[in-house]
Amino acid sequence: MGLETALPSDSVLTTSLQRVVNWARRSSVWPMPFATACCGIELMATACSRFDLARFGAEVMRFSPRQADLMIVAGRVSVKTLPVLQRIYEQMAEPKWVISMGACASTGGVFDTYAVVQGVDQFIPVDVYVPGCPPRPEMLIEGIMAIQRIIDEEGIPRDPSGHRRPLNIALSPNYEPRAQPLPVTIGAT
Ligand code: SF4
Repeated sequence: MGLETALPSDSVLTTSLQRVVNWARRSSVWPMPFATACCGIELMATACSRFDLARFGAEVMRFSPRQADLMIVAGRVSVKTLPVLQRIYEQMAEPKWVISMGACASTGGVFDTYAVVQGVDQFIPVDVYVPGCPPRPEMLIEGIMAIQRIIDEEGIPRDPSGHRRPLNIALSPNYEPRAQPLPVTIGAT
């Protein structure tokens, strides 16, 4: 890792065990992609070379819940699919985290119908809400980094009774609409 070249060979490092555990945890977050719609394409792009999720140690997508600790819900979830989502969440290893990626996962998006879940946080605890339709890969990376920061600084957040509590972090959109490149005229001949 280059550490050994930066340090004199006869030096000693001391730290607390908790710090090392937190460092290891935040450097090896393994996602469980629950991608059901177009947001899933941006999720795939995040792992590709241009955005390179591997820089954050989180590129190892696992399709077995027992080997994953970060669920990324990317896309709308139908009522019929909901039991599957809950089952997978329950099977994931503790400590586990959840990102709700995009408007559909967080609110149902434009699909305001009886068949679509109007926010997965009603059924599983969500740690980070990533805004957008779809969110860009940078936004998803920001969401993963938000979880990493919490792991690094606080470890596993618990309420006074010792139960794990969801982080409830809502990222702010970082997208600024730009002017149209060409003036749009409607109805002109
Ligand atoms: S938020 Fe937008 S991009 Fe994402 S699944 Fe819904 S419609 Fe598709």
